[in-house]
Amino acid sequence: MAPTPLYCLDKGENNLYIKRDDLFPFSFGGNKARKGVLFWEEFLAGGYSCVVTYGSSSSNHCRVIANLAASYNVACYIISPEEASEPTYNSYMMGLFGAEITCVSVHEVHDTIEAKLQDLRDAGEKPYFIYGGGHGNIGTEAYRLAYEEIREYEKTQGIHFDYIFHASGTGTTQAGLIAGKLISGDTKEIVGISIARKNPRGGAVVQESVDDYLSSQGIKVDSQTIAQNTIFVDDYTKDGYGKTSRDIQLVIQKVMKDYGIPLDKTYTAKAWWGMEQYIASHKIAGKNILFIHTGGTPLFFDGIHLS
Ligand SMILES: *Cc1c(COP(=O)(O)O)cnc(C)c1O
Repeated sequence: MAPTPLYCLDKGENNLYIKRDDLFPFSFGGNKARKGVLFWEEFLAGGYSCVVTYGSSSSNHCRVIANLAASYNVACYIISPEEASEPTYNSYMMGLFGAEITCVSVHEVHDTIEAKLQDLRDAGEKPYFIYGGGHGNIGTEAYRLAYEEIREYEKTQGIHFDYIFHASGTGTTQAGLIAGKLISGDTKEIVGISIARKNPRGGAVVQESVDDYLSSQGIKVDSQTIAQNTIFVDDYTKDGYGKTSRDIQLVIQKVMKDYGIPLDKTYTAKAWWGMEQYIASHKIAGKNILFIHTGGTPLFFDGIHLS
């Protein structure tokens, strides 16, 4: 797969660059598509017969996995918490792709997944299970590879990014970037703007994912080094997952008008707004800054009438 576009948006107090993972060429792109194609390689190699995953009705991950399943003509089962089941463009698409969606209370999600996997095995199927959000070493690997794309860009353009900012949710994307940094002995500050989770748990999950991944690759890095390289910022979560505010709506309008780039209130606009706040409060100036657009384009349309 060719690297996603990376280019300079603005030369001002800092030079702002963007990596357009929202243009990753499958199912409206985004980090879930980048992870999804790697999960699918394992699905194909393992001789599985169907796929099971979970997420809300607005989940980019579930849309991408349902799309992959449809394109391979494979049954896809999604367990979804009914507390977050309002219709969205992502959920319309999951329906279009023929995914079977089971809505249960959030407390029942875990047991419902177990029961579904058991039912499928009893029926002679070989189900492939993917954690919500594409969490796990394969998801981490996807962003370790994305980090390589960034390094390649730096090499050919003779530039060095001082900071990377991006939206951090399950922390898998951030873990992959940090793993890439540690493996290459690089010095970039990788700042994950949490879209919901708080510390200490949020940052701890990122560190565990980095550790898990590096161990799986036979690479030893001590936990203190991993901790020092994990900047998981929980100051900009607003009131939690999907919760927005006037300043975030204004960011969506501004970035669309100025650059023609769609952001969404749950992930990328929150991260963008958080990045602006972080740069201001840390008085960062004269630096090369890279924002990774992690996708979620369908969510832009869910929110477009709300401003
Ligand atoms: C899932 C998602 C994220 C968060 O990615 P994680 O790897 O779970 O941290 C960020 N942006 C978008 C658009 C997403 O869909």
